[in-house]
Amino acid sequence: MLLTRQQKNPETIILKHSSLNDISRILIRTTNWIGDAVMTTPALRAVRETFPEADITVVANPLVAQLFESHPDCDGVIVYDRKGVDRGPLGFLRFCRRLRREHFDLAILFQNAIEAALLTFLAGIPKRLGYTHEHRRLLLTHPVGVTPQLKTLHHTDYYLNILSRYGVVASEKAQRLSLRPDEQTWAQKNMPPGPVAAINPGAAYGSAKRWLPQRFAAVADRLVEEYGLSIILTGGPAEIEIGQDIASAMKSPCQNFIGKTNVRQLMALLANSKLMITNDSGPMHMGAAFQTPLVAVFGPTDHTTTSPWSDNSRIVRHDVGCSPCLLRQCPTDHRCMESVTAEDVMLAVESLMGRPA
Ligand code: SF4
Repeated sequence: MLLTRQQKNPETIILKHSSLNDISRILIRTTNWIGDAVMTTPALRAVRETFPEADITVVANPLVAQLFESHPDCDGVIVYDRKGVDRGPLGFLRFCRRLRREHFDLAILFQNAIEAALLTFLAGIPKRLGYTHEHRRLLLTHPVGVTPQLKTLHHTDYYLNILSRYGVVASEKAQRLSLRPDEQTWAQKNMPPGPVAAINPGAAYGSAKRWLPQRFAAVADRLVEEYGLSIILTGGPAEIEIGQDIASAMKSPCQNFIGKTNVRQLMALLANSKLMITNDSGPMHMGAAFQTPLVAVFGPTDHTTTSPWSDNSRIVRHDVGCSPCLLRQCPTDHRCMESVTAEDVMLAVESLMGRPA
């Protein structure tokens, strides 16, 4: 074990495992969901701080890769498109060969699938660190055992925990995303003038996580009337219909960006909003990373492990016996979401923003 640096608390000495000396090229296999990838960013910073001289490359699917463009804690991104050009066994082997040519010294696996461990093993990366999910133990040189307690950790701590076993720690645990100046300019040019609230009514995981469009519309109208905010709708192509339902149910006008932005533009919209109303979703975690004040409606998911990682947020949920079920579609009456009213959400807005003037 090698003494590398101290935390802010002078009594806490951080030890990097000596087997991680002489690392100059690091591959990070990140997660396949945007929200999870945002929650890995404190762990990514821990890697950067522990290996300040190393070149760090993130491997991600085409959507998640956009999060890490121009990110201060990595030096590059390699897109792994396993549903496109890298599809099938031949595509997988071709991608392994591509990684082999990069001569990485260390692979860190935030993704839990056995495929991630196999990929880095076949790519000839000599050190491979990750959880032992899916019988990956034999493929890892630096395994981290899976315990029942892991399920209770917030996902941000879950990813940090992979690294802390080997003395790779961050000086602070804030999530971080970054935008280029031209992306900020794009948002400012395209958003309505004045303070804006982003309504984000989708959730890629499934319909069980979605609050009702009519209630999003009722909240949006009240934000216009009571707080003088302009409204934008945000989301991906799969949520176009939901956006149209909300826009037509609203009395006030709104600007509908759903299905019209890429991930970087969505990030810029959320970073420049004064408030966000959202389901538990990838964009929710983006908003939290930018410290945009936000209210999140939770139903079937576990609000203790995937809550927004921000003091500038409020969660609205009702205790129903079947939650968290973690199902994509509700098999019963969707009471976890049906029971949340527009008034509940407005009370959460008030606790964040104060009473309307
Ligand atoms: S089963 Fe219960 S927690 Fe799950 S989606 Fe339906 S109402 Fe919500």
